[in-house]
Amino acid sequence: MYRAPVDEIAFTLKHVCGLGDLQQNTRYAELGDDLVDAIVAEAGRFAAEEIAPLNAVADKHGTPLQDGKVTTPPGWREAYHAWIDGGWNGLSADPESGGQGLPQMLSAAALEMWNSGSMSFAIGPTLTIGAVEAMEKHASDELKAKYLARLVSGEWMGTMNLTEPQAGSDLNALRARAERNDDGTYRIFGQKIFITYGDHDLTDNIIHMVLARLPDAPAGTRGISLFLVPKFLVGDDGALGARNDVRVAGVEHKMGIHGSPTCTMIYGDDGGATGWLIGEENRGLACMFTMMNNARLAVGIQGLGVAERAYQHALNYAVERKQGRAPGDKGEGMSPIARHPDIKRMLLTMKSKTQVARAICYACAHAIDMTNIADDDEGRTFWNERAGLLTPIAKALSTDFGVEVASLGVQIHGGMGYIEETGAAQHLRDARIAPIYEGTNGIQSIDLVMRKLPLSGGTQINGFIAELKAIADEVAASNRPEFGATADRLNASIRDLEEATDFMLSAQAEGRIADALSGATPYLRVAGLSLGGALLAKGALRSVSEPAARLAERTLLARSFCETVLGETAGLKSDIVLSAEAIQAFDAEALAS
Ligand SMILES: Cc1cc2nc3c(=O)[nH]c(=O)nc-3n(C[C@H](O)[C@H](O)[C@H](O)COP(=O)(O)OP(=O)(O)OC[C@H]3O[C@@H](n4cnc5c(N)ncnc54)[C@H](O)[C@@H]3O)c2cc1C
Repeated sequence: MYRAPVDEIAFTLKHVCGLGDLQQNTRYAELGDDLVDAIVAEAGRFAAEEIAPLNAVADKHGTPLQDGKVTTPPGWREAYHAWIDGGWNGLSADPESGGQGLPQMLSAAALEMWNSGSMSFAIGPTLTIGAVEAMEKHASDELKAKYLARLVSGEWMGTMNLTEPQAGSDLNALRARAERNDDGTYRIFGQKIFITYGDHDLTDNIIHMVLARLPDAPAGTRGISLFLVPKFLVGDDGALGARNDVRVAGVEHKMGIHGSPTCTMIYGDDGGATGWLIGEENRGLACMFTMMNNARLAVGIQGLGVAERAYQHALNYAVERKQGRAPGDKGEGMSPIARHPDIKRMLLTMKSKTQVARAICYACAHAIDMTNIADDDEGRTFWNERAGLLTPIAKALSTDFGVEVASLGVQIHGGMGYIEETGAAQHLRDARIAPIYEGTNGIQSIDLVMRKLPLSGGTQINGFIAELKAIADEVAASNRPEFGATADRLNASIRDLEEATDFMLSAQAEGRIADALSGATPYLRVAGLSLGGALLAKGALRSVSEPAARLAERTLLARSFCETVLGETAGLKSDIVLSAEAIQAFDAEALAS
């Protein structure tokens, strides 16, 4: 069972992550609080009633490939069509293409709930929305006219084709080929692997976004172009025509997300798949990055969604399951395990990490929205950099938390957690992919350290740290004993972040790149944990006019996260500063047999 935490979601949007900044802008003049609440509530209802019941069915059924066609699990087609009929696919798309033009923040909130319902279900539309964004920004008017409205409505779905057997994190190695036709189209050849929703029976057509190289393209990532390759060709009247030369050659057997077909795609076996260029030749990676940045936040939200579901699952189990005697319990019989301090510790950790992931993902969506509404260059640059800083943190920390929270969920279930029947194991299996795809979390950390820290000569990261400090100061000034050691712990972790940042910036300035890369993963975690603690504290500070129980709950959550989890940052900082030498001395290849 999943119950959408609509109050917490709406509160986080409005009072922690700055939805009000958008509501004050003329573009969102009609987006009042009532409308926000109504959208969140209806998305929550749909996710809980229509999507969540499909999750276990999909896990067992998978997406079999037969006679060259992939079938989705029972009930999926109906749920998908009800979902697009509700207009959910185009929530933040441009109204000119039939979208609702709502902010990314609301999309993020809805996406959280779709993912709590079923990660496998939500990922398909996520890629479609990424394709829409790439087309909105880079496609010709002709392509837009033919495809955009049908992608926005969800009548057709999109895919993202980067990966090849020899080209995963490193797209320099990409080999798929494109050749020019006389009529301005292209013929596409090659194999792509691990393509999410590469084939399925949810929609009549599938629009593939494919990276390939032209014969005269420069080597490396500067020679990659982006092509739109439909499964069925589309006539000028919009009618579906002949089958294009693209086929699904296999569906992977995976650890989790069994409802999401992960396909091997073959392009051009029969003379070449017809493709249309998006953007300019050899500039495809920039176009794909539009799609990937959106998808990176969306994958962070997968971690969040699955964490929320795993938490609810474990909480419900913990109040039902009785074992042993909790301290202070009187009377006969065993206590619900939810009363044992060790289980409470795990539940609190699960809840606080979930709320941290929520706040960070929504804050990242806020920065993207602020970039879009900025009315001068200065504002646009600031918010664009902020979105750039937060995207790898949102992706990596939230997906790591997704795994950690789901693993605690299994632990709380005891032996039953390891038995598939309870469903706790599925959350862990599903969550495990999110730190890997859309740029592994290792790659996110490198992006944060090497590309995002140096933005504006370090001004962006230093301004960000100053904002965290201001929250810690506000906690200290509030003089509320219920906060316990929150302010002290938060300040200590922010100091760790400052020192780690100085180390990273000097390592880069001095050309000690291996030192910076050795500490990149722990650095991202220090930044994410400090931000997470600050956002939880902000939530508690902004709850003073909420009902007393809410104020107490949010204060407790901030306090427990800062007093327990934030202790990690001291160790992580030492790791960043000290471990580079040992890591570089370790010769892994010499040890391999
Ligand atoms: C279920 C699933 C769905 C997917 N969906 C899609 C999809 O729809 N479209 C698509 O195009 N792809 C998709 N992928 C591919 C996915 O994005 C890649 O698997 C991922 O980017 C990692 O690439 P790789 O598997 O080749 O790993 P590798 O690149 O071989 O990485 C292996 C390890 O080396 C590390 N590493 C690599 N390079 C560096 C470096 N420079 N510095 C430090 N560490 C490094 C990585 O972090 C990782 O830990 C999917 C994959 C899966 C499993």
